[in-house]
Amino acid sequence: MAIITNAPKGTKDVTPGESYKWHYIEDTMREVCAEYGFREIRTPVFEHTELFLRGVGDSTDIVQKEMYTFTDKGNRSVTLKPEGTAGAVRAFIENKVYAEAQPTKMYYLYCPVFRYERPQAGRLREHHQFGVEVFGAPAATADAEIISLALRVFEKLGVRDLALNINSIGCQKCRPAYTERLKEYFRPHLSEMCEDCRRRFDMNPLRLLDCKVPHDAEIAAGAPAMFECLCEDCAAHFKTLQEMLTALGIEYKINPHIVRGLDYYTKTVFEIVSTHAGSQGTVCGGGRYDRLVEEIGGPAMAGVGFGMGMERLLLVMENQGVAVPEPSVCDLFFCTYGEEARAKAFEFCNVLRREGIKADIDHCGRSMKAQFKFADKLGAKFVAVIGGDELEAGVVKLRNMAKSTEETLPMGEFYERARQRKL
Ligand code: ATP
Ligand code: MG
Repeated sequence: MAIITNAPKGTKDVTPGESYKWHYIEDTMREVCAEYGFREIRTPVFEHTELFLRGVGDSTDIVQKEMYTFTDKGNRSVTLKPEGTAGAVRAFIENKVYAEAQPTKMYYLYCPVFRYERPQAGRLREHHQFGVEVFGAPAATADAEIISLALRVFEKLGVRDLALNINSIGCQKCRPAYTERLKEYFRPHLSEMCEDCRRRFDMNPLRLLDCKVPHDAEIAAGAPAMFECLCEDCAAHFKTLQEMLTALGIEYKINPHIVRGLDYYTKTVFEIVSTHAGSQGTVCGGGRYDRLVEEIGGPAMAGVGFGMGMERLLLVMENQGVAVPEPSVCDLFFCTYGEEARAKAFEFCNVLRREGIKADIDHCGRSMKAQFKFADKLGAKFVAVIGGDELEAGVVKLRNMAKSTEETLPMGEFYERARQRKL
């Protein structure tokens, strides 16, 4: 019966009492993106299913198990975005942004992402990502730039204890030979490995490297590392990235077990993980996808980007006790007695709001005492009392809530001072 007051499993509301935290991280992300020369892109919440089959890859867990796919009334198969990159690439191609001067540096904020997963802390069926994409920049400087951007966001927010793990998974030239070596290595162990690993062995053997099952992870620990098998081009790219990170004073660790879930990555892959949070500690993940634009039907053009889970970021901030400044809801509350006084106060509210003052008034027919209590609850810094006497005398009784002082002001003076924020 209560189903209509229960949100769907794995979704989360942001209530009016919490939204300031979101605004705070969103504002910070916008600021940092502007400093780095990134502009916002907005794309639809759903796309043609084929885009993700092609763009994310049929062998990925996302496509195999996690997509919200349905047939619309026009009999088209559509899918709610399971990640942000494919839509951004589609928009980049469709709007011919590739014809402009490159690179194109863009970001998306509060991008809803849908995955049919088993809900738990930090793992939702609808979550939101902040992400960036750089198109048309093959140089490793672009990889370093987006990593530096992500870390700057964390730094600006005051998030600590994060580790950057990087890896290179090569390209079309060097990966096939490596994949063969990997299969050779895993083949004798396969029968003792988990079902997922056995399934991925043929389709996506790289994923065997990041299996979370302890026994499988032990086996994977002895596997050959991709970065030892890179072609000249990929090796040079990886080396430059490391040099750039070092030059920027960014600490990193090479982790040969980071392969990322998506099929489209080439060369660089990276993750930023919280050294505290347990299994859902990956706050940011990204990498290079030099073949994706072409794969989706655009010109051959390099790409590199990341996605940052906003809910996970907030969780990490909460765990670390990072302070988020809470904006005031009300600067000045009017407590009134009688119809006429209320009308006068409402008029004041109206003009003061236009001056940028957060002015408010009771809408629930509260008694004078209850209005005061409510003003206090709102955190009003000042209360202006207008009752019958004040109205008659043309004055306002002004109370400074923090200091518990009171003064009586002629209405004209009250208005001027309120307007100039000199109460
Ligand atoms: P995980 O290994 O935790 O499943 P992922 O590799 O699937 O992560 P990406 O596809 O790279 O994650 O998504 C980028 C970021 O989005 C992740 O690093 C994480 O912060 C966040 N994220 C991914 N899936 C979820 C989810 N189900 N709920 C909340 N946040 C998520
Ligand atoms: Mg996942």
